[in-house]
Amino acid sequence: MVGFGYDLHRLAEGNRLIIGNVEIDSTLGAVAHSDGDVLIHSLVDALLGAAGLGDIGELFPDTDAKYKNMNSKYFLDQTIELLSAKSYKIINIDITIVLQTPKLSPYKNVIKYRIAELCKVGAEQVNIKAKTNEKLGYLGNSEAVAAYSICQIEKV
Ligand code: MG
Repeated sequence: MVGFGYDLHRLAEGNRLIIGNVEIDSTLGAVAHSDGDVLIHSLVDALLGAAGLGDIGELFPDTDAKYKNMNSKYFLDQTIELLSAKSYKIINIDITIVLQTPKLSPYKNVIKYRIAELCKVGAEQVNIKAKTNEKLGYLGNSEAVAAYSICQIEKV
C-alpha cells in the first residue's frame, strides 16, 4: 500500500525551525501549535494514509493543549507503533522539502538517518530531497515551508 502526505507551516522570525527532528540554523522558524516539524507531519500523514488510518489531525488534534510545543517525534513514534501493532512494515519513504532559505543540502543526510532511526528502518529505505521554490509565491519568498511525503508499506 502507498500513502501520501503534505504539510505546510508559516515561517516567522524568532521561531525554531525543526525539520525531520533536526534543528536547522535559520533566522526564520515555523509557526505552529507543536514544534512545527513539517517533514514529520507530512510523513505521519503518508504512513497513516497507507494504512487507511485517517490523518494526523484526527489522531493528535491541534486544539488539544497536550500537544502544545510538542516534539513531533512523539507523533511519529505513536504512528510507527500503531502501524506495527497492525502488522505493517515500511518498505520505503520518499520526502521532498520545499524551503527557499537556508539551503538544506548540508542537513539532508542527518535528516535521512534520523528519520530512518525513528521509523525503525534502514537508511537505504529513506530518501530526502530538498528544493527551493525558485523565489516564487509564499514558499519562494520564505513565508512558509512545505513537505511532501510518500511511503510504501506492506502487511507482514
Ligand atoms: Mg503541521
